[in-house]
Amino acid sequence: MIDVCWLGTGGMMPLPDRFLTSLYLRHEGKVILIDCGEGTQTAIRSASLRFKPIDSILLTHYHADHVSGLVGLLLTLGNEDRTEPLHIFGPVGLKKVVGALKVIVPELAYEIILNEIEPGCVFERAGLTITAIAANHGMPCLSYGVYLRRAGKFDPQKAVRNGVPLPLWGKLQNGEYAEGFKPEDVLGEERKGIRLVYSTDTLPLREVASYGKNADLLVLEGMFGGNEKDERALITHHSTMNQSACLARDAGAGQLWLTHYSPANPHPEEYAEEVRAIFPNTVISVDGQKTTLRFEDQTRGDQK
Ligand SMILES: [Zn+2]
Ligand SMILES: [Zn+2]
Repeated sequence: MIDVCWLGTGGMMPLPDRFLTSLYLRHEGKVILIDCGEGTQTAIRSASLRFKPIDSILLTHYHADHVSGLVGLLLTLGNEDRTEPLHIFGPVGLKKVVGALKVIVPELAYEIILNEIEPGCVFERAGLTITAIAANHGMPCLSYGVYLRRAGKFDPQKAVRNGVPLPLWGKLQNGEYAEGFKPEDVLGEERKGIRLVYSTDTLPLREVASYGKNADLLVLEGMFGGNEKDERALITHHSTMNQSACLARDAGAGQLWLTHYSPANPHPEEYAEEVRAIFPNTVISVDGQKTTLRFEDQTRGDQK
């Protein structure tokens, strides 16, 4: 399962009750942050979440509302006596941006490993498979797909057929390798895992609908509400709430969480009826909102 918490849902600039964009994903005790807007560390405290398990930060792009929380967070991680390396991923320009920010936090006791990645790049962090998807924001910008794989069920007949000695069954069933045998020797077909897509600061992306086909959760931007803002969204390389709802509908997603509201959109819930007419399972996210994504035959988590 994956625990998800919205640390901030604001775009461009923070409001008194709305921090800038950041998402906290926890899987098996490790945490991935996506984006790190101003106030991210305060939002982590407000949500009673922990800093220590943060393994990686995925940045979509380098507009200030997505990276301005990084300096404070790096300092706080240092104050927690961190020694484990921190992995930061982002599009081209990452080394320049983080290098500049590090000028004012020069003495960190842990290593920062920077990974400049291209669209299409696939990598593993915190037991999750991450795919970078090209966004359309007028500058290098990535959306991220996150997938938690699920192994097949244990199949004792297959284990016998493959000649696996009985004492090794448990190990292989747990995904370990032993004495030349591999987990697939005792497991059936891989089952459907958990898929999440995070895409903000972009014109509507058809790739989100295709990569996020039947995704459990799409996290898309709700910069503007109402169809009359389509032109404004086009000019600024953003999406409207309605456009994001159309993508979620086309993807056949389980849920859509909207985020990254413009300061000029202080009450996005006023558009709830309009977007739910397009995609009924739309959540107008607020800061601190949490959910747990589970495999399909497990009990679904409650939203708070
Ligand atoms: Zn933004
Ligand atoms: Zn932006």
